[in-house]
Amino acid sequence: MIISYIKFLFQKYNSSKFIKKGKCNRCGNCCRNILLYTEKNLPIINEEQFENVKKWDKHFNNFYISGKSEKGALLFTCKEIDENNRCKVYFFRGLGCRLYPKIDSNFLINGGKPLDGCGYYFEPDKSFKDYLKKNQ
Ligand code: SF4
Ligand code: SF4
Repeated sequence: MIISYIKFLFQKYNSSKFIKKGKCNRCGNCCRNILLYTEKNLPIINEEQFENVKKWDKHFNNFYISGKSEKGALLFTCKEIDENNRCKVYFFRGLGCRLYPKIDSNFLINGGKPLDGCGYYFEPDKSFKDYLKKNQ
């Protein structure tokens, strides 16, 4: 029992991990195609919901509606992006902005990827073949 648990931990430790590569090309897409969520953690899908969330969190006032996703959720643009795709509050921007695109293994395994035009991409740090070799 203990041996299989140790083996499991060893394999988990050695499993491949995604690493972020590339760099920001300042396309501005991540500041213009933002999904925002209600207090129930559901994507905002209409103007009424947007007006409601603005009542309980003033940060929502930093965005305006600029489109709709294929799945029907509203897309927002941040008011801090200028016409040259530069962030007007770059040094004070929030954590979400600093981390974009964030590595989330489940998201990537399920086919998720950075926005179209983004200069970042993700790759596994080792191939499946290398993983098998290490765990034989
Ligand atoms: S604060 Fe700056 S980096 Fe963050 S979404 Fe707005 S423009 Fe983009
Ligand atoms: S989508 Fe990617 S490349 Fe474009 S501004 Fe955002 S981080 Fe930079």
